[in-house]
Amino acid sequence: MDLTLTPQETAFRDELRSWLQRNVPTNWEADRRRDSMQERFAFLRGWQKTVFDAGWAGVAWPTAYGGRGATLMEQAIFTEEMARAGAPQLANTLGLSLIGPTIIQYGTDAQKTRFLQNILSADEIWCQGFSEPNAGSDLANVRTRADRDGDHFVVNGQKVWTSWAWAADWCALVTRSDPASQKHAGLTYLLVDMKTPGVDVRPLKQMTGESEFCEVFFHDVRVPVEHVLGGEGHGWQVALGTLAHERATLGVIFQVQTRRQIDRLVATCRERGIDDAVARQKVAAAYIDNEVVRLTHLRAISRIMQTGKPGPEGSILKIGWSEANQRFQIVAQELLGAHADVDEEFAYSYLRSRGNTIEAGTSEIQRNIVAQHVLGLPKSY
Ligand SMILES: Cc1cc2nc3c(=O)[nH]c(=O)nc-3n(C[C@H](O)[C@H](O)[C@H](O)COP(=O)(O)OP(=O)(O)OC[C@H]3O[C@@H](n4cnc5c(N)ncnc54)[C@H](O)[C@@H]3O)c2cc1C
Repeated sequence: MDLTLTPQETAFRDELRSWLQRNVPTNWEADRRRDSMQERFAFLRGWQKTVFDAGWAGVAWPTAYGGRGATLMEQAIFTEEMARAGAPQLANTLGLSLIGPTIIQYGTDAQKTRFLQNILSADEIWCQGFSEPNAGSDLANVRTRADRDGDHFVVNGQKVWTSWAWAADWCALVTRSDPASQKHAGLTYLLVDMKTPGVDVRPLKQMTGESEFCEVFFHDVRVPVEHVLGGEGHGWQVALGTLAHERATLGVIFQVQTRRQIDRLVATCRERGIDDAVARQKVAAAYIDNEVVRLTHLRAISRIMQTGKPGPEGSILKIGWSEANQRFQIVAQELLGAHADVDEEFAYSYLRSRGNTIEAGTSEIQRNIVAQHVLGLPKSY
């Protein structure tokens, strides 16, 4: 693995760096942390539109669908430069990181034309309807029904922990289309318009005080068959594709966010005269954790560029970023003491980090995957 940038990558980085210098809003994190969740989301949506209009959204997506047609390495450079410039994140996280790539992989030409550009421009926000009250780690236990009725499926059931459902225009929904089937068979992946009659979104209050995720109920929701992704009955394979993208890409977003916060913690410690040896050890350990995640991500990209296939790095990354971020947030609380509770960003991030080792598959499930698929150990259940 060679981390030296090629002339093309250097030119890409320099052009992007100069655009970011001119366009990243100043002091946005402090200003927007005081906004309501809806106002903050509207701000992030506007920022994504600016990034899209300038041609930087979907760096590695095909140009035919509004992307830049660049390499995965240039996509990684984009993410790192965004962090370096302290830029806001892009609003359509799930559309960009997992659902768009799944549509690129499994969609028909008509689906790609219909959906991809609107994901990049943030004109249509997406949510991920996988988990149910009895189907989380055991996703194959999905019970939400999709019964064929002519050229539609009729959906009935309930999803839970659906992030951004309150803001979403579309949902990537895993359903059971064959009522006699069990587990991985008989599942169908549907692209569902959240404005269809019968979709009922109920926000859930989290310990951060926000309602980032929701319960979503489906009562006789009619979904046209042309919105099946990857073919009727093939939902498990398509869902695994989404999960692979989720584990690999969300990590990078969190890694760069944590990196920005490490820099903020260092600056805040300086301001407050916190410079003892224990503090230095803890901050250095957090920085090393973060670098390990960054390099694991680059290793994953390097493997995909060489072999065309993702390796086990997705699960390793998922464990790495989520547990590293939790450790770092505890360090910030310890070092800043009561100040951390009145610093909107550190107070929020500490509480929010608890969910990191649950979302996108728990640490226990990721360790099972690494044990079984990387180390060749026997299946645990
Ligand atoms: C912040 C956040 C955002 C989320 N966003 C979304 C979203 O947008 N869309 C969506 O569909 N879901 C979302 N989820 C749900 C998430 O994917 C599930 O919570 C997760 O997969 C775990 O499922 P569960 O909650 O049903 O827990 P369970 O599966 O019931 O697990 C309970 C505990 O048992 C452990 N466990 C279970 N099975 C095993 C096993 N075989 N071996 C060892 N230990 C095991 C788990 O690790 C866990 O500690 C989100 C969750 C969070 C916290």
